[in-house]
Amino acid sequence: MDRVSDVFDRLVGQDHAVEALRQYALSPVHAYLFTGPLGTSVHDALVCFAAALQCHDHGCGECATCRRVLREQDADVHVAERSGLTWRVDELRELERVARRRPLGDGYQIILIDDVELTVSGPSPSAAALLKSLEEPPERTIYLLGASEVPAALATIASRCVEVKLRALDAPALATILSAEGVEAELAASAASAAGGNLRRARVLARDPALGSRVAAWRAIPDRLKGTPASSSEVAREVVASLDDAVAPLSALQDDEWTRRVDEAREFGQRVLGGRREMDARFKREQRRFRVDETRFGLSALTDVYRARLVESLEAERAGDARARARVASALGALDALAEANARLASNLDESLLLHDLMLRLAEL
Ligand SMILES: [Zn+2]
Repeated sequence: MDRVSDVFDRLVGQDHAVEALRQYALSPVHAYLFTGPLGTSVHDALVCFAAALQCHDHGCGECATCRRVLREQDADVHVAERSGLTWRVDELRELERVARRRPLGDGYQIILIDDVELTVSGPSPSAAALLKSLEEPPERTIYLLGASEVPAALATIASRCVEVKLRALDAPALATILSAEGVEAELAASAASAAGGNLRRARVLARDPALGSRVAAWRAIPDRLKGTPASSSEVAREVVASLDDAVAPLSALQDDEWTRRVDEAREFGQRVLGGRREMDARFKREQRRFRVDETRFGLSALTDVYRARLVESLEAERAGDARARARVASALGALDALAEANARLASNLDESLLLHDLMLRLAEL
């Protein structure tokens, strides 16, 4: 069947989910939970589906309604913003109040909440408040929830929703998307392979001329600590500085987005919803996550180097090289230290501290 393009064409690599979403848009229920590994752009998928729900043609992608929703400027599509690392109870209560409003247009009142796994963590989990809102929503209200994972504590909430599963994007799929967006093929391939399945990160890396040299710097760390001994704190300081450099292309991308948003709003004679300050807070959180992703990427490049050393030393040991045993032990120690650093990174630790500790341990092996 030939189809004209529509709003779902934006969800490259998610054919399975898109097929279901086209059906759901025809007769929606009151709550959907979109899940997908980090960086599968769960948020984009939620916004596209919101457009399909509001549009008279179920997501043509062209009409004023579609365009307004895609710009996140539709008065009846409320994109929830959280102020901290987790969702707070009062933030969810406020959303419930919004959910009870009658839509201004003839569509739905849509409440879009990202990262709902963050309602079950933190000092005062807010999942109960969210669950309560899902129990008896007003007739014309639809909740669109997004999560990168569904921990057991989220099971009750999940059971109140139709689940939409997004797939992790592999490097070739990411490269295809980047190429379609006009990125030159070789750059698209290298950015895609360094992005860890994360589309947003791939887009930033594709704008980053220093990507290659950063990878080389991470891979050179073992030699710098051993071959030509630099102090571990000197190496750590350089790595931390390279994280700052890595965030620069993201900041540039964010500035472009802000400018585009203002221009589009002007074109439609609208005020930009959500002020610059809220946008800055969102951008800061994204930069914070980007630093963590970049650190994780660097640790994996470093892990590759030590893994190669381990294989090499094991072969030498097998061939009777008496000094190889010590090299095997040191490579294993390095891999342990890296695995530990990776685990600590997940617990929201300051990267600078983590990297200083790690370099010290690697230097002593
Ligand atoms: Zn439309």
